[in-house]
Amino acid sequence: MEKLKLSDYFSEIYELNEYPRFKVFIDGKWVKTKDTFDLISSIDESKIAEVGAVSKEDLDLAVNSADANKHKIRDMSAIDRLELINQVRKEIENHREEIVNVLMRESGKAYDSANGEINATIERLRLSMEDSRKIMGEYIPGDWSSDTTRKMALVIREPLGVVLGISPFNYPVYTSMAKILPALLSGNSVIIKPPSSDPLALLMCAEIFRKIGLPAGTLQVITGSGSVAGDYLIENNRINMISFTGSTTVGKHISEVAGLKKIHLELGGKGTAIILEDADLDLAAKECVKGSFELAGQRCDAISRVLVPEQIADKFYKKIEEHLNDYKFGNPLDGNKINMGPVINKKAAERIDLMVKDAVKKGAKCAAGGKFNNSYYEPTLLEDVPLTAEIANEETFGPVITVIKVKDVDEAIKIANESKYGLDSAVFTNDFYNGWRIMKALQVGNVTLNGAPSHGTAYFPFGGVKDSGAGKEGVGYSIEEMTNIKTIIFNLGAKNLGKQYSGQFKD
Ligand code: NAP
Ligand code: MG
Repeated sequence: MEKLKLSDYFSEIYELNEYPRFKVFIDGKWVKTKDTFDLISSIDESKIAEVGAVSKEDLDLAVNSADANKHKIRDMSAIDRLELINQVRKEIENHREEIVNVLMRESGKAYDSANGEINATIERLRLSMEDSRKIMGEYIPGDWSSDTTRKMALVIREPLGVVLGISPFNYPVYTSMAKILPALLSGNSVIIKPPSSDPLALLMCAEIFRKIGLPAGTLQVITGSGSVAGDYLIENNRINMISFTGSTTVGKHISEVAGLKKIHLELGGKGTAIILEDADLDLAAKECVKGSFELAGQRCDAISRVLVPEQIADKFYKKIEEHLNDYKFGNPLDGNKINMGPVINKKAAERIDLMVKDAVKKGAKCAAGGKFNNSYYEPTLLEDVPLTAEIANEETFGPVITVIKVKDVDEAIKIANESKYGLDSAVFTNDFYNGWRIMKALQVGNVTLNGAPSHGTAYFPFGGVKDSGAGKEGVGYSIEEMTNIKTIIFNLGAKNLGKQYSGQFKD
């Protein structure tokens, strides 16, 4: 692939040597790290850039700066913060094509997916005004309790201080921005550790923040291995909150070592679609294909298994086959018609292949796909997958439709709820009341009736239960995670104000 070359607007974020060598964003400046690591594109396995690998000293500088400068964002008027974010949104729009282009190359995303991620980011920024409505409090009159007569309280939301955001490879820009935005909007400084596989488009966004005039030190973007950089930061006591999106394994590790810091965890899932006999099978098949194949299945809210009653299984398989070509699989640089590219790397393709082979060995039928070449895993359909197969229970994170036959809907609910995960799910039926019963019974954070799950811009709150995480992300909801409630009590009685308690009607 051709070497990455950015426009002059982004000239400060990298050096052009044999390969572009990217810097990190610390204390409001672009800093060259001593070490780097290679960024290999899954599109053709070629090296496209060198990325900064931060040292402990760099990390200390980032934490010091975030801590020392947090007052700059806290003391900025809220309307200024909002308008600054609005300027950032406009500037991202101005540079959209260039950002999309870089995101495609580093992540292997097809144009539609990369463009979709940047659109969602822009929309999330546009919704800042809605976010800001959650940064409000309450007035509580005290005279409803004998304990607090002649007092009143104001309950206000305050920033936590320094927020650390760690984001995953599948939506490196959107998930990072969905942390930066509510953190800044509510007056916190932020340190972001984007994924090592595809951090470049986010670095471009950081440059936009700098150029628009975000106070130096209120945003730091550091790159480097999660197990080194991430680990060092999650233990640091000057970080007040961790907002993590990524795998369950790393999420559990974070919750073990973070101590008393506030943590918000958006983790893995095993999105289950339950099809009922009365469902619109054409719609169900189309949505299951979309839910399984969108972004080559690398989505936490992907449909990762489909539970279908045995009576309608053959009819459902036929319908699925009709939609198998809804996704054009290939090299994302071969034109905009391609809407499914490779997975993130060859190792990921090999892992998916092991899961598919394990299912086939245990009796599943591979009705389509099932092969890979480097990072390109073919869109795959597995029918009659037994529950003993790993792919029936573990997160797939690849373009595989995994169909499991069940006796009836109660067995489907039981299987769904036996999962250690509880992130997303879908129910397909034309019987609203039955759908409602099932949606209430599922132990998940999110469930969609007659549609593939898609948390998009997180206009609706999103988050999992069980091993899928804790806390809610979403417009307004993330603000709640990133602020503390302070109760300010006024003793009005000190100046003979406030209502008296007579006690005359007490039992
Ligand atoms: P991952 O391997 O857990 O990595 C996520 C982030 O954590 C990366 O930035 C990674 O850095 C960093 N990291 C790794 N080890 C760390 C450690 N010991 N301490 C601190 N940080 C560490 O996840 P992924 O493979 O990038 O993403 C896929 C996973 O994310 C899937 O399980 C998916 O379901 C989940 N996800 C969940 C949601 C949700 O909203 N629930 C959304 C999207 C994705 P490196 O890249 O340097 O390793
Ligand atoms: Mg990983």
